Amino acid sequence: MNATFPELNPPVRIMLTPGPSLMHPRVYRAMVTPIIGHLDYRFMGVMDEVQTMLRNVMRTKNKLTIPLSGSGSAAIEAAMINFLEEGDAAIICVAGHFAERMAEVATRVGATVIRVEAPWGQPVDPQKVREAARGQKIKLIGMVHGETSTGIFQPIAPYREVADECGALLVVDAVATLAGVPLDVDQDRIDVCFSGTQKCLSAPPGMAPITVGPRGEEVLSRRKSKVSSWYLDLTIVQKYWGKDRTYHHTPPISLIFGLHEALRMVEEEGLEGRWQRHKLHAQALVAGLEGMGLEMVAAPAHRMITVIAIKAPAGIEEVKVRRRMLDEHNLEIAGGFGQLAGKIFRIGLMGYGAHRNNVLLVLATLEKVLGEFGFRAPAGAGVVAAERVYAGAHELADVRT
Ligand SMILES: *Cc1c(COP(=O)(O)O)cnc(C)c1O
Repeated sequence: MNATFPELNPPVRIMLTPGPSLMHPRVYRAMVTPIIGHLDYRFMGVMDEVQTMLRNVMRTKNKLTIPLSGSGSAAIEAAMINFLEEGDAAIICVAGHFAERMAEVATRVGATVIRVEAPWGQPVDPQKVREAARGQKIKLIGMVHGETSTGIFQPIAPYREVADECGALLVVDAVATLAGVPLDVDQDRIDVCFSGTQKCLSAPPGMAPITVGPRGEEVLSRRKSKVSSWYLDLTIVQKYWGKDRTYHHTPPISLIFGLHEALRMVEEEGLEGRWQRHKLHAQALVAGLEGMGLEMVAAPAHRMITVIAIKAPAGIEEVKVRRRMLDEHNLEIAGGFGQLAGKIFRIGLMGYGAHRNNVLLVLATLEKVLGEFGFRAPAGAGVVAAERVYAGAHELADVRT
């Protein structure tokens, strides 16, 4: 026994945040699979399967489709530093924290970053992107599909149109949306698309799927300078994940085992069924929250479904509410950050967590705890409103439970 460093024993939490999301027991089990070597031919088989399933979930035939060793931010970084060189111009659509991060990385490469902005809580106007691109040689346009920090959803097509007009690559941060909302890399003609494993895939945190289309590959092959990071240099990382299987770095084998199982679960459910499930539970959650008299940050047309942002009622200290939910109910939801710090709550319904029990639980718990802090909603109004949505979703009987 070691009294100084007791065995880890964290509480079992229900995490309804924008990640990490809840993981299915099958994924935990896969992660304790005894590891094998990263150059063992049996592991190569696992790599092949993971890549095939990643192509399925991203809806792409792109050869260069791999899980990067690193969180979603590593993919933001990879997407900027591999496709931009010093002196290139990039447009970044900035209306939240993660787009800000993309712009920051692009600046560090030495690219000229043209920021097209919108206030936090609104989407970036594609027409403004068009105007910013006029008369310029733009290498890439970067955008965030679902801006987790604000709860805003930005459909890809209008930005693709602008990228076509100016011959730029379209780079999409789909960290919070992949496997939760409709996304089709090939049909949407996204040149570089990336995600994270701990969001709607419900795999362990620490990996970042990325896919690169033919135009992106061409840009890679024509680079004049070496990519500034050796670790995230796709021109060499792809040799390990490509047919050569040349050692680059030791990948997180146990995480890849977990991802493999999480992807198998996506295959079993079917991507469309998974999209429908996320939509239904988000609808029920929003109905419940509105039933309690709470107000959403985003207008319905721009609202994400995997992360719901809610205005904190006047006079309520959201930090205290969240702390009490965590301490007394083991239920974690998120607050805001940056411009929205202290002003909003964010509830993530991602992957395995997007479930009726969790929707009803978070509504009932919010009602109780908000009530203790002085915000009184009609008793049971949230749960009743959510149940009404479920009752109307006959065709989705199998995703209600
Ligand atoms: C979570 C998130 C990221 C960052 O991912 P990390 O895994 O925390 O590095 C980037 N973009 C979006 C939209 C996200 O939701």
